[in-house]
Amino acid sequence: MVDCKCPECDGDVDIPDDALDGEIVSCPDCGEEFEISFNEKKELSLKKAEVVAEDWGE
Ligand SMILES: [Zn+2]
Repeated sequence: MVDCKCPECDGDVDIPDDALDGEIVSCPDCGEEFEISFNEKKELSLKKAEVVAEDWGE
């Protein structure tokens, strides 16, 4: 388990060790959902998950 800070409320978000790029996690504090992404150094970051109901414009 990896601890990551919530970008919204700075709360602790638990990331599973086997988390995959693109996996969705939610913050226990604010309930916001975030998508896990890894950069080229395999560092984990969270970006806010968009609501998928919308058209992505492709
Ligand atoms: Zn939060």
